[in-house]
Amino acid sequence: MKIAIVGTGYVGLVTGACFAEMGLNVVCVDIDKRKIEKLKNGVMPIFEPGIEVLVNKNAEEGRLSFTSDLVDILDDVSVIFSAVGTPPGEDGSADLKYVLEVARSVGRNMKGYKLLVTKSTVPVGTAPKVREAIQKELNIRGLDIQFDVASNPEFLKEGAAIKDFMGPDRVVVGVESERAKQLMERLYKPFVLNGFPIIFMDIASAEMTKYAANAMLATRISFMNEIAALCEATGANIDSVRKGIGSDKRIGTSFLYAGAGYGGSCFPKDVKALITTAKEFGFEMKIVGAVEKVNEHQKGIVFRKLNEAFKNDLKGKTIAIWGLTFKPDTDDIRDAPSLVVIEKLLNAGANVRVFDPVSMEEIEQKLGKKVMYCKNPYDTAQDADAVALVTEWKQFRLINWVKIKQLMNGNVVVDGRNIYDPAELKSEGFNYYSIGKKH
Ligand code: NAD
Repeated sequence: MKIAIVGTGYVGLVTGACFAEMGLNVVCVDIDKRKIEKLKNGVMPIFEPGIEVLVNKNAEEGRLSFTSDLVDILDDVSVIFSAVGTPPGEDGSADLKYVLEVARSVGRNMKGYKLLVTKSTVPVGTAPKVREAIQKELNIRGLDIQFDVASNPEFLKEGAAIKDFMGPDRVVVGVESERAKQLMERLYKPFVLNGFPIIFMDIASAEMTKYAANAMLATRISFMNEIAALCEATGANIDSVRKGIGSDKRIGTSFLYAGAGYGGSCFPKDVKALITTAKEFGFEMKIVGAVEKVNEHQKGIVFRKLNEAFKNDLKGKTIAIWGLTFKPDTDDIRDAPSLVVIEKLLNAGANVRVFDPVSMEEIEQKLGKKVMYCKNPYDTAQDADAVALVTEWKQFRLINWVKIKQLMNGNVVVDGRNIYDPAELKSEGFNYYSIGKKH
């Protein structure tokens, strides 16, 4: 069986490589010719642990290939996964232009039955639009060809994407025909055989499941950040509270970490899109609205701590920022909390030195000459008045604080992810700030 994956980003490339690893013949399609050229040469367009080995192995073994034109391979496949971007539009709704362009392209060129599966995160009500876009093109061509649409939202996490795809908690599939259901069952059979469940439902519910999942996870983060603020005010310690509530099986331990706010290409845009979808139906999402508000405020917390440390006078101060991606193990800086911290620091007149293990190129493209780019955590701390940890990459965990102290001009450390030991930092003479604990 041969399938096409349209969109070769974080989701599409991982999906393609993992399906190929399961024995399917996969063609990955992307309109970005540079991405396709890179992939043909064995060079990955994204940073994701394990992706290079998996892609190159499956390409060498002939199960994974790449093209920049869907039309070239459309006749060879009956199932097309669409994993193109759905960025936020100006009003916060998901912009469906790429999703609908893929649908139109399928409708314009198909000669026989096709199943178009939307893997991108799309608002409830998108499937009828996808179906309409294909049908319209078929009508223009005066053809009556059967096709199906389906929804198969993706739940992988950047940084653990391959593990998540290969061992999903569940696969959610929305279908509206038996033929589509059977095709999807066949594709996911290796996963079901490995013990991972597939949950079939109607398409609207599948589309909604993705948003409900992301909004629920974002809610946990904002909830914990709000509790952390109250911990600081009352003298409680958020880490103890987290352990205390996480050991309750009804609550569980995941997504309970207070920090510098959530970011990335999913939570912020999906939370916004859910609020907008609700508005379109004359409904106000009160909880989800609050989740977004709390997070917007939280993204400024590292800056507020720095401001507190320097008594509202950051002008001329040199601040070192450790970690720029929205979370560790990815090169993704979309909507990263670091960008908010840096912008606020620059507006306050501070000099900013930055370091991230993988996203320096991306950050330089975005910030140009506004900040100083450094080689490692120690280089970043050179002559700094303060160091602020924003993203908890592993290499920031075991720091030689004696050396950092010698390199720095000041002694302020803001730990935006609560990974350091307050007692150790204090005994080394640092003025240490964290989230959700009294300093
Ligand atoms: P991405 O921006 O990394 O990749 C999208 C790719 O689609 C780009 O390479 C782009 O060039 C390509 N593209 C756009 N239009 C195209 C067209 N007409 N034909 C061929 N290629 C086209 O995006 P992503 O992060 O992989 O996300 C894709 C979707 O999956 C989004 O809806 C996102 O919300 C969802 N999602 C993302 C994640 C994640 O962690 N990144 C997780 C789950 C779901």
